[in-house]
Parts: sequence; C-alpha cells; structure tokens
Amino acid sequence: MAVAHVVRPRSRHQAFRSIRRQLLQDQRILLRQAASWRPPETEAELPADVLDIATCDRDLALGDLMRQRTYAKLQQITRALNRLDHASYGMCHLCRTDIPLPRLRAQPDATLCVDCKAECEHRAMLRKQV
Ligand SMILES: [Zn+2]
Repeated sequence: MAVAHVVRPRSRHQAFRSIRRQLLQDQRILLRQAASWRPPETEAELPADVLDIATCDRDLALGDLMRQRTYAKLQQITRALNRLDHASYGMCHLCRTDIPLPRLRAQPDATLCVDCKAECEHRAMLRKQV
C-alpha cells in the first residue's frame, strides 16, 4: 500500500524532529535503566528473616511495577518512532485533522485527537455499563 506523501508545514516538521530527538533521548535513558536491573544472584543477597522477606517482596513488587512502566513507556516510544517515519504521523486516525503539537509532545504515540479520544472513551464507558 502506497503511503500518500504529505507536505507538512515547516513548523510542524521541525516540531516532529524535536519530538524524535526527545524520544531517542528518552529511549536511551530507559534502556540504560532497564539494563541495570538484575535479580538477586547469590544466596548471600537473599533475605535472612521474615521481616526482610516481606521488605524484599515489597521491593520486588515495586521493582516489577517500575519495570512494567518502563517497558510500557519503551513500547510507546518505539511505536511513536515508527509512526514518525510515516506521512500520517500527527494526523487523527478518525477525523483526519492534525493532532495539536502540545498533545503530540505530551503523548508522542497518540493516534487520535483529544475530541476523538474522548468520544472513544465515552463509548467504551457506555459499553461497560450495558
Ligand atoms: Zn479526531
């Protein structure tokens, strides 16, 4: 499928370059952070008593949560970087209008404008109530 070539306004094009630079920087930081994580390797590092085990379990759970968030953020960044290569980046998938730059800076992998996103969430909420 051919991707339609879209000429972006210069300011939007520059903003996308800035978003890409920021995403690559965030990706490097998160990858470095993820690379530093490791499970306890030796028995000497394992907790000795019940209180230590509880603390260790809490720390592990907190660590798991942080890892999940980091991996979710990395996925978000990867999706945004992949989408930045396509002409349709920054365009709402439903109404085809340009997604405002502040929204893209805050949520670089956004595929919907705020109105369409709100409409989707509203419909999802209504479906849950049925
Ligand atoms: Zn829209």
